[in-house]
Amino acid sequence: MRKYLLLIGLSFFVSSCAQRNKVEKKYQPFVQKKKIIKKERKTYVPSPIETDCDAEFYRKNIGNKARKDNTMSYGSIVTAKANGFQVVKTHFPAVSQDFRQKYVIVHYTALNNEKSIMVLTERGVSSHYLVNDLGDKEIYQLVDENKRAYHAGVGSWRKHKNFNDNSIGIEIVNDGYVLDENGKRVFSPFPRWQVRKVAQLLKDIVRRYEIPPTNILGHSDIAPTRKQDPGPEFPWKELYEKYNLGMWYNETDKYRFMNQMNAQEFFQKKDSPSFVFEFQSALKRFGYGIEPTGTWDEGNRKVVEAFQYHFRPQNYDGIVDIETWAILKALNKKYPAK
Ligand SMILES: [Zn+2]
Repeated sequence: MRKYLLLIGLSFFVSSCAQRNKVEKKYQPFVQKKKIIKKERKTYVPSPIETDCDAEFYRKNIGNKARKDNTMSYGSIVTAKANGFQVVKTHFPAVSQDFRQKYVIVHYTALNNEKSIMVLTERGVSSHYLVNDLGDKEIYQLVDENKRAYHAGVGSWRKHKNFNDNSIGIEIVNDGYVLDENGKRVFSPFPRWQVRKVAQLLKDIVRRYEIPPTNILGHSDIAPTRKQDPGPEFPWKELYEKYNLGMWYNETDKYRFMNQMNAQEFFQKKDSPSFVFEFQSALKRFGYGIEPTGTWDEGNRKVVEAFQYHFRPQNYDGIVDIETWAILKALNKKYPAK
């Protein structure tokens, strides 16, 4: 009997060990995962955090692309303080995050230097940067890049709308335009040194936030019915060719599209509802906030004019012509909307 009891006891012990082994096996991946996390925690060396006015800042970019970690930050407040608890920000940075700064919007102030500073710092409008007209080495920063500046207003480009929330605003001191005797807008040129300042500023911003060429725009691109800045004198082509900034079309594509029909044919069909619809759709596809209807209206003319300011500055009459059409097609080919 005792022997029998011993056997039962033994088998119970063995089976409970097996059970435990099973349990351990079952949870092994979890244990291993925990170990990996611990290992990463040990090897992850965070950038130093500085404290100022009781808020904590990273001064350096803390992103680590090798770890698919996009936790990049430039001097922003990075953590909350919970009284009695420890907010730990270095253990588990999430991959699913990105920059607020998706666009750069370029403006002119249409005011002199002094008035530009006054309006952009003391009124209800602002921009992150102001490029003066003094010919010196300075560029003024008016708003922290991580904070919102009020420069864009109501606008639209591809899927985006709230440009104060998702862009960096650059204002350039420039007189804007005057109307000539025929009511045509005549714009002020930008001095060479001012263009160089804007180019270097853009280059740095675009690099740090990985802003694509399609997202470097003029105010008139996102708000064509309200705005003309930075106007046709702003050298978008030069920025593209010399600094690899922003968009420009391929000349060969332009001529290929121009040769698909002659000017006479184009003139005959340019006001037909199907072609107007096609043109409006192409503008919308490229990014402009326009709804295809099949008929031209004043708002559409302003969109075409804004397009010409940016991509065909030699003639910005707002009238659809074969060259404007070919440039638009070439741009849609080179920069297809995703
Ligand atoms: Zn503007």
